[in-house]
Parts: sequence; structure tokens; C-alpha cells
Amino acid sequence: MGEKKLKKEIIERIWKLRDLIKDLEVIKDKIVDLLRIEQDLDESIKKVWITDVKECYYRIIGAWELLRAGIDGKVKYLESSKIFVSAGKSRLTQFFSELKTFDNEKAERLIINAKEIFDKLIQAFQNEFDLLTPKKIIEKPLEPIKKISEKNYQLTCSICGEISVIFTIGKGTLDKDEKLIFNGITHSTSLGKELAEELFMTLKTKDLSKVHDFMKKYHSNEGLDAYCPECDKVYCWEHYNAEEVFDIGFYDCTYGICPKGHRRIIDD
Ligand SMILES: [Zn+2]
Ligand SMILES: [Zn+2]
Repeated sequence: MGEKKLKKEIIERIWKLRDLIKDLEVIKDKIVDLLRIEQDLDESIKKVWITDVKECYYRIIGAWELLRAGIDGKVKYLESSKIFVSAGKSRLTQFFSELKTFDNEKAERLIINAKEIFDKLIQAFQNEFDLLTPKKIIEKPLEPIKKISEKNYQLTCSICGEISVIFTIGKGTLDKDEKLIFNGITHSTSLGKELAEELFMTLKTKDLSKVHDFMKKYHSNEGLDAYCPECDKVYCWEHYNAEEVFDIGFYDCTYGICPKGHRRIIDD
């Protein structure tokens, strides 16, 4: 198929995504109405929950605008569009956890409808991302641990090469003194600077499982969030298929399911 024809088809498909987005808008309005008339709900909670529903919808609008801007394969726009889709998905999961407390048929139906439309949208976005993102040619196997300097290491995704974890010495937003900063796929945190030597020694061994053990010992049970112990590989947020879980609107934890299907809690 000619490249011009293919591109024309992509443009048409992306334009037609508006139909699905309109369906999402209709559901969004129905959910907002349901929340508005709910009498057992505190007014301030009502406001927050309505915002969650609306934000899901507006993130998808944003993702769509960015996808259109990325038709020519501009990676910057495509990457931002992916972030918006992912934020929309996060809001959706969040307000589902809120709606589930209603325990009535109408709310249940709305959840099912919204999920159906949203899954179609995600699939459609994903198809276009796959088609439009310029293919990276990986010539040799990726080095999972990259030394940038004595005090700065990066761990890269074994699928796409994206920087997934950064370890560095510096000041976090709330730090007065220099710390050992961990920047992962689910969160970042500041660890005591005195641990830096042990960590950098561990990184030098190029053994990811030891880095995971280090994080388990000094940070949390989940260890290195981007790491799948069964594969002994690092994945980015996208390739770890990270799924956030909410409990009545509040963040609970994040699961990762690696491309081989290994599932674990990566942040709690
Ligand atoms: Zn990746
Ligand atoms: Zn795995």
C-alpha cells in the first residue's frame, strides 16, 4: 500500500475516534448526573468524585489532540499522548472504585458501559501509536545498567530501551541535604546518602537481582519497581503494563504484569 494512502487512512481513523470520544462524553454526563442526585454523599466528596470523572474525559480529549499533532511521527507528541491516555485510564480506575460503593444497578451498568467504550478507545489509540511511532532499530542487546557518571546510573527497559530507573545523588523536592535519589516507574524517593556506596558497588556488579534486594532491604518490600524477578529484567511503565488500584477513590497500590505474564505488586 502506498505511504500516502496509508497516511490518509490513519488521518481518517483518528478523526473517526471522535465518535467513541462522544460516547465517552455521554457516559461521563450520565455518571455526573448520578453523582449530583445522590443524597447520601457528602457535598465535598461529591465534588471530588465529579472532578475525577470529568478529568478522565478531558485527559482523553487531550490525548486525541496530541495524537493528531503526532500524525507525522513526531515522537514528542506521541509520547505526551501516551501519558494522557495513561492518566485517563488512572482516573477511570479511580472513579470506578468510587462508583462501586453505590451498589446499585444503575451505577453498575454505567461502569460496564464506560469500561466497554474506554477499552475500545485504548485499543484504537494503541494501534495508532504502534503505527506512528518510528521503529527503533536495536542493533545489539541492550545493556540494562548504564553508568552515566560515578554518581548517576540508569536502568533501561529491556523491550524499548527507555530509561526506567535513575539512581543519583542530589536533593529531592523536600530535602535539605544531599540524598541518594531513586526515580522509578511508579514513584521516586530519597534514601540516606550513606547507602550510596553500597548501591553503586551493587550496580557495578551488573546484577539486577542484587539491586532489587538492595531496594527491598532499604526501601520497601516491593523492591525495584521496574524489575521483574522472574525474568530478571527491567521494564518501563508501558512494558510492565502497570495497573493502578484504587480503594474508594484513594490510591492503593500498583501491579505490574511483565510481557511474559509475571504479575506482582510493584508499589504499595
Ligand atoms: Zn519499554
Ligand atoms: Zn517477567
